[in-house]
Amino acid sequence: MLVSEMDIISPQTVKDCLYILSKNKTAHRLIAGGTDAVVRMKEGKWLPATWINIKGLKELRYIKEINGAIHIGPLTTHTDIIQSSLLQKKANVLVEAACEVGAVQMQNMGTIGGNIGTASPAGDTIPALYVLDAAIELQSLSSKRLIPINQFFTGPGRTVMKQNEMITNIIIQQQAENEIGIFQKLGPRKAQSISIVNVAIILSMAKDRECLGGKIAFGSVAPTIIRAKKCEALLSLHPLTEDIIENIAKVAWKEVMPITDGRATAEYRRDMASALLARGLYRLMRRWESK
Ligand SMILES: Cc1cc2nc3c(=O)[nH]c(=O)nc-3n(C[C@H](O)[C@H](O)[C@H](O)COP(=O)(O)OP(=O)(O)OC[C@H]3O[C@@H](n4cnc5c(N)ncnc54)[C@H](O)[C@@H]3O)c2cc1C
Repeated sequence: MLVSEMDIISPQTVKDCLYILSKNKTAHRLIAGGTDAVVRMKEGKWLPATWINIKGLKELRYIKEINGAIHIGPLTTHTDIIQSSLLQKKANVLVEAACEVGAVQMQNMGTIGGNIGTASPAGDTIPALYVLDAAIELQSLSSKRLIPINQFFTGPGRTVMKQNEMITNIIIQQQAENEIGIFQKLGPRKAQSISIVNVAIILSMAKDRECLGGKIAFGSVAPTIIRAKKCEALLSLHPLTEDIIENIAKVAWKEVMPITDGRATAEYRRDMASALLARGLYRLMRRWESK
């Protein structure tokens, strides 16, 4: 399909956009930074009758603290996230994930709303959003609802979002003073590559290496992002010694449910999930000790 054959609408306000979404009866899809949309359009996978270009909706680009939580507009780019001193201080796991999205051009163009909207099990910001207990605000012309991130995705490329809705806000919880976070990724190349496996970790620490508990979310090892609950159970009230970390990594090998695809075999993904988790935990311990 040629660009000249497509219907592209560019609303100027969120209200206009929601109106268009409510009235448009043809198949439509939003386009924000376009980094996923253009690739999939060229591949013939996404060919809606109408594209709704939301790039100009400046009111959806923000990072702000409200009542102790952090609100992020869906049009916030990965570069905005990387450069945010609020997120560096209070949600470093998300900053580290944004740093791993493609190369600088993708970080400048690509948005967090687009990363969530694509709903890829390999999307890099999504595991970070899981460990930050994110909630996704969906708005239509007549309603607004807040969906916990673990109920938002229903499969690869699928979410609970309806055709007349759009993401208008992403709310995350801040990391506490004694919480440390890390994002680890294995991709086929150094940059511009989709994750083979990724993991986001937040640990809540007491003194020394004693861990009070934590959250672990893996990407690319199941149809959607998963929380590794069995691994998390082993974090509580232990000093994170080498033995314990190795044991948690073994549990991760069994807990993930990867498939074989063009990027890696299931077995390789299990090995790498286990190794990435161990590496993440060792790195977090080093960071905590040097704090
Ligand atoms: C070369 C290359 C390398 C890449 N590397 C990575 C990588 O390393 N890690 C990674 O995670 N991703 C990667 N990506 C994918 C992509 O860059 C990211 O997913 C990016 O965040 C998408 O944002 P966007 O604004 O460009 O989304 P778009 O392409 O504009 O949209 C993507 C989807 O989200 C929907 N959407 C956008 N905004 C909203 C909204 N407000 N409400 C509802 N739905 C919405 C759109 O309708 C569409 O379905 C890469 C892409 C390319 C081309």
